[in-house]
Amino acid sequence: MNYTIFPGKPKCFCGVFGIYGSPTASLETYYGLHALQHRGQEACGIVTRDLNGNGKSFFQIHKGEGLVTEVFAKSKVFKNLLTGSSAIGHNRYSTTGSSQSRKNIQPFLVNYRLGNLAVGHNGNLTNARELREELVNEGAIFQTTSDTEVILHLIARSRLDDQVEQIKEAIQRIEGAYSLVLLTDDKLIAARDPHGFRPLAIGKLNGAYLIASESCAFDIISAEFIREVEPGEIVVIDDDVIRTGSVKSFRIYDNTLPKNHCIFEFIYFSRPDSFIFGHNVDKMRRRLGKILARNHPVYSKNDEKIIVISVPDSSNTTALGYQTELEKLGVNCKLEIGLIRSHYIGRTFIQPGQSNREIGVRIKFNTVKGVLEGRTVVIVDDSIVRGTTSKQLVKLIREANPESIHLRISSSPITHPCYYGMDFPSKEELIAHKHNADIDSIKNYLDVDSLEYLTNDEMLEAVSEAGKDNFCDACFSGNYPTEIDLNFKKEIYEN
Ligand code: SF4
Repeated sequence: MNYTIFPGKPKCFCGVFGIYGSPTASLETYYGLHALQHRGQEACGIVTRDLNGNGKSFFQIHKGEGLVTEVFAKSKVFKNLLTGSSAIGHNRYSTTGSSQSRKNIQPFLVNYRLGNLAVGHNGNLTNARELREELVNEGAIFQTTSDTEVILHLIARSRLDDQVEQIKEAIQRIEGAYSLVLLTDDKLIAARDPHGFRPLAIGKLNGAYLIASESCAFDIISAEFIREVEPGEIVVIDDDVIRTGSVKSFRIYDNTLPKNHCIFEFIYFSRPDSFIFGHNVDKMRRRLGKILARNHPVYSKNDEKIIVISVPDSSNTTALGYQTELEKLGVNCKLEIGLIRSHYIGRTFIQPGQSNREIGVRIKFNTVKGVLEGRTVVIVDDSIVRGTTSKQLVKLIREANPESIHLRISSSPITHPCYYGMDFPSKEELIAHKHNADIDSIKNYLDVDSLEYLTNDEMLEAVSEAGKDNFCDACFSGNYPTEIDLNFKKEIYEN
């Protein structure tokens, strides 16, 4: 099934949500997951905790393949099954673990020595393979192929007698990228890796506390954003917190460790209406567009008006930043809607002589011919991965007979894969790798009149308000902030 993500864009991560202290916890989780749908469209699930007549807690779960609206299409799921005042939810796009396996759909739920435990994870554990081997040798039986299950086993096998202590102990063993929500019989717990690869935020709604991958999940239910979970922090919400209004916070990693926020969250992945890594995504995306215009402008012949268009929706804000700055540079230009995006995508059937990519692009986009015909057109896009989709998009725009097409990319060329949760193809499939990062050669392949990317330094300059040194840019630079095991590299791209 082809969902709302633009074909040819990296697929990413997952979205997590948690709530403690609301009588309608599962409904709020549903809306939260809906707002986080862009973070994962293959599958989703919700786990709730309720109390029986004797005050004993019990957990319920509903999960399945598809979008949030498909998996939770029936209202009776909320009324009859997902009852209780706390819940966690998860949107999935598979990173590790076979995407085909229903068993890999999160949240995962177990019952062990200290009670019930559910977990939802966004990110990738880079040492999951070694830990898994170790656990299997000690007798652990794995139900899934997901790295997240390792966390559950580490907690369940701990000899400590306090769940928060067990979670702290488990977290000290895992490496890589993780933004976690965990639900126990009496607590909602959130944890973020010390690098802070993925965002994670805390919110409040009518006395209940919430955790979400992005703050846009709070807006949909009119909840208040409180703050982000800090890198290396574990946050615990329980009845005491509801009473006192003071969130419990633990640190197992020093706050002064270098941060490595994923720069791609600002470039493409997070929603522009979210607040992550201490900043508004919208503002950062506009800045990326602004720096792109300043350093890679397009000038027209005879001062005729240049038409700037975005590839909707992820590049809309960047294109706005680009056009505004281009105008400030004295270029006669206008931001136009040159591509119309269909949000209703179903299965595609390939016709003879047509490639999967071609129909994928045509079913998703159409051009507004009157806007493009005879004009100098600047397409602003956030990234190019394989290049096959961009090529199809350029072909589509050419059919509208523009005078010329200039492609401007608000990131630098992607030359390396991501091991922290973003699903890029293997290095060999990346267009920048294939063409040895030779921009002229990529330009010829895409059949555009000019092509320019932001350089790595320009990209970091655009996000510098959040601290130039606080970002992971490994897929652009090859400088991975953590050690990557060779077997893990293989595993990621063989799954
Ligand atoms: Fe983000 Fe790229 Fe780093 Fe992965 S490698 S975390 S996509 S910047």
